[in-house]
Amino acid sequence: MATTIDLEGAVRTFLRQTESHLAAYLEGCVHCGLCADSCHFHVASGDPRHTPAYKLFPIAKAYRHRKFPLGLLGLARPVGEADLREWEELLFDTCTMCGRCTMACPMGIDIASIVAGARQAWVAAGLGPSDLMGSADNSRDHGSPLGVSPEKLRDRVAWIADEHEVNIPIDLPRADVLLTLSSVETMKYPDSVASMAKLLNHAGVQWTLSSKGYEATNFGYLAGKADIARTMVERIVAAAEAIGAKTVVIPECGHAYGVLRWSAANLLGRELPFEVLHITEFLAQLKRSGRLRLTPIDERLTYHDPCQISRRGGAAGDARELLDGFARDFREMTPTGNENWCCGGGGGVQAIGRAAPLRYKVFKLKMDQVEQVGAKTMVSACSNCRLTMDESKAHWKWDGRIASLVELVAEHLVEEPKAGA
Ligand code: SF4
Ligand code: SF4
Repeated sequence: MATTIDLEGAVRTFLRQTESHLAAYLEGCVHCGLCADSCHFHVASGDPRHTPAYKLFPIAKAYRHRKFPLGLLGLARPVGEADLREWEELLFDTCTMCGRCTMACPMGIDIASIVAGARQAWVAAGLGPSDLMGSADNSRDHGSPLGVSPEKLRDRVAWIADEHEVNIPIDLPRADVLLTLSSVETMKYPDSVASMAKLLNHAGVQWTLSSKGYEATNFGYLAGKADIARTMVERIVAAAEAIGAKTVVIPECGHAYGVLRWSAANLLGRELPFEVLHITEFLAQLKRSGRLRLTPIDERLTYHDPCQISRRGGAAGDARELLDGFARDFREMTPTGNENWCCGGGGGVQAIGRAAPLRYKVFKLKMDQVEQVGAKTMVSACSNCRLTMDESKAHWKWDGRIASLVELVAEHLVEEPKAGA
């Protein structure tokens, strides 16, 4: 039996969203369809329902019915339960909030931000993919979407430090830099955690992890649960303030960077008292100041831009600065940088089990791009992209390798001889 939904709660949430700039976006769409071929889901599936503008239909309908002059004259139809049920898949499974469609839109409509706001209406209705909702709830209740509690974090970090013979400071009372982690790395790619520690130690950075604010991912934001989004941000901010951190470093995670760098101050209603840098930005700074020296790598490499770091984050140049002079046979894919194709798993889509077949189709775009440049290894700086692409790669039995940029850099560090040695 279908669950009862809170339709009025959803409509109220839609309308609250349209009190902001989103109303201008909804009014601005001229239905030209130019966004269609910019969306990887539409290109990969050929399904016209995957056209970006079409995904906005319920919020536009609610807006027209309650606010638009036609609605006030009784000439527009209300959004109904069937709309919410039908569009759930379009709003959650087929939008990674990658922002590529905005670059194609002649009106500059930021569909990703409308989708992020609209997801809150599904939550208000009591709808939304259960696995994504569960990831958000786990973050609030246990500390991370994968259930990495503070106790588990301390155990896991001790294990990684032991296994990789690297010092990983945790809960130091004062530090210049608070390093945060993605639970995808903590649980699935521990080498990435060890690599960050190795690099920060090598450069003499005064840093620590904190068991009070460690989880960089923000599934509250992705799921449309604004209260959880705020809670996750508050934990990091409180931890950073407690140790007097000047910089909070976000690990290889795209949306974690986007939320803390660009949305956190709005979520909290105050400025952040520290700088937020993605690990690639931080490492590029170290390289510029001569604190990272690397042995070159001759293998042909290409780079996958995580959408939230490059297109939406403005930090496409830092990864390339790290690779410059180090990756001697580096080749750019087409398109690349701010126009890259998404991995297919951002915006929480990675956590939605039923979306896997569509993610696999999207990955074929990336496989073709990598094969065109003749590389066997594609480097990235987002563990969520990496996980999405590793799963898709296994599905297609593709023989390419998806590597972490941080791990690659750590593996090629020139160890300075100890003084007096
Ligand atoms: S933000 Fe990205 S995934 Fe969402 S509709 Fe636009 S192009 Fe498609
Ligand atoms: S490109 Fe922009 S104006 Fe055209 S249909 Fe898409 S969202 Fe609307």
